[in-house]
Amino acid sequence: TPLTPQADTAPTAAAKDAVKAADRAHVFHSWSAQKLIDPLAVAGAEGSYFWDYDGNRYLDFSSQLVNTNIGHQHPKVVAAIQEQAAKLCTLAPGFAVDVRSEAARLIAERTPGDLDKIFFTNGGAEAVENAVRMARLHTGRQKVLSTYRSYHGATAAAINLTGDPRRWPSDTASAGVVHFWGPFLYRSPFHATTEAEECERALAHLADTIAFEGPQSIAAIVLETVPGTAGIMVPPAGYLAGVRELCDRYGIVFVLDEVMAGFGRTGKWFAAEHWDVTPDLLTFAKGVNSGYVPLGGVAISGAIAETFDTRPYPGGLTYSGHPLACAAAVATIGAMAEEGIVEHAAHLGENVIGPALAEIAERHPSVGEVRGLGAFWAVELVRDKETREPLVPYNAGGADNAPMAEFTAACKQAGLWPFVNMNRTHVVPACNITEAEAKEGLALLDEALTVADRHTTAGAA
Ligand code: PMP
Repeated sequence: TPLTPQADTAPTAAAKDAVKAADRAHVFHSWSAQKLIDPLAVAGAEGSYFWDYDGNRYLDFSSQLVNTNIGHQHPKVVAAIQEQAAKLCTLAPGFAVDVRSEAARLIAERTPGDLDKIFFTNGGAEAVENAVRMARLHTGRQKVLSTYRSYHGATAAAINLTGDPRRWPSDTASAGVVHFWGPFLYRSPFHATTEAEECERALAHLADTIAFEGPQSIAAIVLETVPGTAGIMVPPAGYLAGVRELCDRYGIVFVLDEVMAGFGRTGKWFAAEHWDVTPDLLTFAKGVNSGYVPLGGVAISGAIAETFDTRPYPGGLTYSGHPLACAAAVATIGAMAEEGIVEHAAHLGENVIGPALAEIAERHPSVGEVRGLGAFWAVELVRDKETREPLVPYNAGGADNAPMAEFTAACKQAGLWPFVNMNRTHVVPACNITEAEAKEGLALLDEALTVADRHTTAGAA
């Protein structure tokens, strides 16, 4: 059946069948074995909910890929995109355009320190690629250091920087990347028992890595301020300041990747504010416009921007600073400021999500640890609280992953759309989710965790 825009959106059984048939025939999906998946056909979305063609509504505890920071279909952003479309849909990056200028100004005003120049991209991976290129050109060095527990994107350099196993099939080891261990007390690579000890040992490990790689060959250290996809590991006090110090000592460019943690997610405009640290380059995407139109970028320090004052920057993208995306960013940042959405995310973390998860952790044998801040939380599922053995093995697939697959299915069955990765479920709702909706989702999560409990040593006993 040929699709028409009407048939595409009308929530009927015939429309659903047409959408699914064309999807199966022609859409090649990310990160998937094409014949082993059955994507949900979504008919619409609003606020913290989306719904399918069969009348099932889902509370979105994933914010899609942690990007709809102001929820679905925010009327101010939808209107801004429509107005911009009527006025000027596209213009090459070489021109000065009102919405592009305004988006850059609003972002620069909110990024820490002197990160006052904005290079726009279409998403996070391109932002990371360009940050690496800028660091190499600025320093004249090649190597880049990043952590094992990280995700930085799926393009050539970004996937090499990524520490997550999604790197493995694509890792050419050609991007001059060296991985090291960041701090993570619950599974401490340094066998530390306190946050202070973890911090000290992680910094000593990084200093050793730099010494043995050769400081003169290292262009950049790239870190997620709070690693997201790899497990929402809030760094101990002093860690980021310590990395800043090492970068200063050896002339290494400090890149903070805030693609996921930025734009309100942690209860601040940028997560770096929590630790009062200013990187030399900061990458962003996702929340900058809630993902309504693809947009990302690099916020650049004065010193690095100066490198390209008289020497051309050798990089660019056809859609850099796309007017529709920038209009969406201006409206998103405006709505976040007017509606106190960043403060609301902080409130949710401190008073709603954090306390509820702490209480859930006490009751469920499958919950090893909960951690996070703002609207950015991980629930780490284990077989055994004592041994901390993960509920499923690292990078498990197929039958090995059954406990997590069952838990995920239970969430969806109950109307909760979770963000699940390995042995964790992440609680990452829209930053403007209401307290009542957040509590509803947490109650559904609580119930679904009983399915995970059955796979624990306590549950089996
Ligand atoms: N960096 C981080 C920290 C991310 O979380 C992601 C996406 N999850 C990326 C980079 C890549 O962004 P994109 O998918 O927009 O290329």
